[in-house]
Amino acid sequence: MDYPLPQVTPLTEPFWGALRRGRIAFQACACGHRWLPAREACPRCLGTDHRWEDGSGRAQVVSWVVYHTAHHDAFKDRVPYNVAIVELAEGPRLITNVRAPHDTLRVGMPVVLAVEEEAGFALARFAPAAA
Ligand SMILES: [Zn+2]
Repeated sequence: MDYPLPQVTPLTEPFWGALRRGRIAFQACACGHRWLPAREACPRCLGTDHRWEDGSGRAQVVSWVVYHTAHHDAFKDRVPYNVAIVELAEGPRLITNVRAPHDTLRVGMPVVLAVEEEAGFALARFAPAAA
């Protein structure tokens, strides 16, 4: 199937490599700022003195939408599915899917990293955190 795959570059490889280890990684600058997705320079101070750090995998839901129409043929068997923004406990945000019934999603809902293998990639998805 014509499936849209992530583009792995030297810049983004540490992110994908961490997921293969079951971890979520983000960039952390000497100024204290942490972010995703990967960038050459810190989005706060534009500095390049940064490194990769592993996160705890804990996060919370910031927002989401539920797609009822597939905008790519590869996803036509998945609708309805959610696309969510989650904020890691360490601060960076990312776009992902939350593996929970759509009517249970809430702003601030605690979720945890749930790496899923798909099309040869380890993908960062999230699931509700155990109470
Ligand atoms: Zn910085």
